[in-house]
Amino acid sequence: MNAKILETENVTVSFDGFKALNQLNFSMDTGELRVVIGPNGAGKTTFLDVISGKVQPTEGRVLFKGRNVKRLREHQIARLGIGRKFQTPRIYLNLTPRENLEITSNRHKNVFGTLFRRSSTDDKRKVVLLLETIGLTAKADMLSNLLSHGEKQRLEIGMLVAQSPDLLLVDEPVAGLTDEETQNIGDLLLALAQSHSILVIEHDMEFVRQIARKVTVLHEGSVLCEGSIDEVQSNPRVIEVYLGATNVASL
Ligand code: ADP
Ligand code: MG
Repeated sequence: MNAKILETENVTVSFDGFKALNQLNFSMDTGELRVVIGPNGAGKTTFLDVISGKVQPTEGRVLFKGRNVKRLREHQIARLGIGRKFQTPRIYLNLTPRENLEITSNRHKNVFGTLFRRSSTDDKRKVVLLLETIGLTAKADMLSNLLSHGEKQRLEIGMLVAQSPDLLLVDEPVAGLTDEETQNIGDLLLALAQSHSILVIEHDMEFVRQIARKVTVLHEGSVLCEGSIDEVQSNPRVIEVYLGATNVASL
C-alpha cells in the first residue's frame, strides 16, 4: 500500500486567469485525519473539487494512493475510493435512516453481488452497525425528514461510509449546528478516523481543536503553514491572514 493516500503536486486551478489554487503542494498519509482551514476564498472548496474530479487542474497533478487521477470523471474517482460529503446533506428525506443506508450499500454492489444476493444478511448487519456508529439506532425507522440538522449530517456521513471509501472528504460538517451536535459530529469523525483516512475542511475553531491532529492552513490557493492547532494559531502569518480577512474572532 502507498503510504500517502493523497498528494497534490503544483496544482493550479485558474478561473479566467484567477488562480483559486496556486501551485498547491499537499500530502497526507494513509490513516490520517487532516483538517484544512483558511479564510473565505482561500480555495478550500476548490481543493476538494479538484480531488473529487469536479474540477480539473489547469496545471499539476493529483495522486490518490499514488495514482494520477487526471481525466477521470467524478464517478470514476468515487469508485476508486474517494467519498465526498457536501455541506448540505444529500439524503432521501422520505425514507428512514435504515433505508437510506441500505440503498447506499446496495448501489455500490457489483453485478455478481446483486445477482446472487449473497451478502444481503451481511448488508443488514452492516447497516445495523452503521446506525450504531452514527448514533441513530433509536431513530432508524422514522422518516429522515424528522431528523435534526445534526442527525441528518451524521446520516449522510454514514451513507458515505456505507460505500467503503478509503478517503473521506468532508466540507464544513458543523456549519449551523448546535454545540451538542458539533460535539457529536466530532466524536463520529474521531471514531471513523480509526479505520479511514479523512480530510475535513472547517471554519469552526473549537471544532478543529476537538478533532485536529495536524492542520493545514490554505491562503490564496497555497499552503501557508502546517502543524498542530497550537502551532498554527500562534503563527504570525496565519494571524495576519485572518486579521486581514477580519476573521480573527473565529480564530
Ligand atoms: P473557500 O472554500 O476557501 O471559501 P473557494 O474554493 O470556494 O474558497 O473559492 C476560492 C476562490 O475561487 C474564490 O475567490 C472564488 O470566488 C473563486 N472561485 C471558486 N469557484 C469559481 C468558479 N467556478 N468560477 C470563478 N471563480 C471561482
Ligand atoms: Mg468553501
